[in-house]
Amino acid sequence: MRADVVVVGLGTIGALTLAELSAVPGRKVVGVERFGPVHSHGAFTGESRVFRTAVHEGERYVPALLEARRLWKSLGAQVGRSLLLETGVLSIGPSGSAAIETTASEAQRFSLPHEALDHAELHRRYPQHDLDSDDVGFLDLLGGGLRPELAVLSGLEIASANGAEIAVRSPATAIEHRGDAVAVITAEGEIVADRVVVCAGSWAGELLPQLAGLLRVTPLSLTWFAPHQIDRFSPDRFPVFLRDRGGAHLFGVPTLDGFSIKASAGELWGNYASLGESPKEVDLPTLEHIARTASWFLPDLNPEPVRVSMHYDAYASDRVPIIDSSDDGRLTVVAGLSGHGFKFAPIFSRWAARLALGELPDGYDPLVYGLDAHRSCEPASSQIPCGA
Ligand SMILES: Cc1cc2nc3c(=O)[nH]c(=O)nc-3n(C[C@H](O)[C@H](O)[C@H](O)COP(=O)(O)OP(=O)(O)OC[C@H]3O[C@@H](n4cnc5c(N)ncnc54)[C@H](O)[C@@H]3O)c2cc1C
Repeated sequence: MRADVVVVGLGTIGALTLAELSAVPGRKVVGVERFGPVHSHGAFTGESRVFRTAVHEGERYVPALLEARRLWKSLGAQVGRSLLLETGVLSIGPSGSAAIETTASEAQRFSLPHEALDHAELHRRYPQHDLDSDDVGFLDLLGGGLRPELAVLSGLEIASANGAEIAVRSPATAIEHRGDAVAVITAEGEIVADRVVVCAGSWAGELLPQLAGLLRVTPLSLTWFAPHQIDRFSPDRFPVFLRDRGGAHLFGVPTLDGFSIKASAGELWGNYASLGESPKEVDLPTLEHIARTASWFLPDLNPEPVRVSMHYDAYASDRVPIIDSSDDGRLTVVAGLSGHGFKFAPIFSRWAARLALGELPDGYDPLVYGLDAHRSCEPASSQIPCGA
């Protein structure tokens, strides 16, 4: 088969990139996915993702996040789904702690709408949280939760409606440069294209030798708990939250299913060369520890998870995503979103689509995201929990 552009991997970035590329009439765009459409194996699974604007390293990320927020809302309006839950993101921690101070200073620096809550106000507004006497709150009013499976579904629907061809259950086994084209090899045959975009998530390192040594697969677990009084945990009363207390971390999302809330410790389960080697389950002692932490922070939770799942993401050693094109512009890669990439997906997808078409996207800096920058980087010294 011959195509103008092929997108390999139709998860977070791939589905939205396919939608973006298919928007121009007459262009033959093909998407290739190893599993079915919107499956349960990708880094996008797990019902919700944290979206916040007041983040560490604001200079690099805040402008992109503000644009991403606009694009999330516009994508939601286009497909008639609420992809961004506008609950705000509540950070809770000891007064003067790094998590609170950094968030507050980035919000002030970029004039992001926010509310600083002293201890009394925090307790009055959010009595669901058990607090220490020095705990204060910071509400990022532009933050909230994203619906990842619905976002991927939306990208595929738009691409399909635009006429993109989608080949599912069709893993690419190799990508080969062939003079003025690139071939994507699958079990069904090969697709030869002018341009190829690879967004293969945790499998990217296995598919592209040029990523060898730059990525590792990190398993992350998620847990859900049933509150006794679920009405206190609805999106209008209980914002998405991030908390640090006594050396423990917990983040969570209000109820989306009417009986449970996500409350997760953001556990990272080590680094692996491939997904095949990664652990598949959360062990019981860790689960008991997470349950104790969750019901300590939120006493209304029944102290036993009603749902537990293990997920995987590709991490770059400095936790900066890899977004780059080959010298001839024919092969673009987006990889290593490092446990915090979902919120940026509409922006990174747009950058990927533009790079694939030979353009330099606004806001994209090859010195930050390019492969050469990653080859020369020092590994990150700290493990920042997912969603941060
Ligand atoms: C548990 C967890 C919690 C997270 N929380 C947050 C959060 O709160 N906020 C945030 O911003 N980010 C968060 N992240 C990070 C974010 O979700 C990921 O960085 C992002 O989803 C990665 O997107 P991706 O497109 O690289 O990978 P994926 O979404 O996994 O997509 C890769 C796709 O490629 C396909 N594929 C792979 N190999 C092939 C092949 N050979 N041929 C064809 N198809 C192939 C896969 O099947 C998959 O569909 C979290 C991640 C995890 C795992």
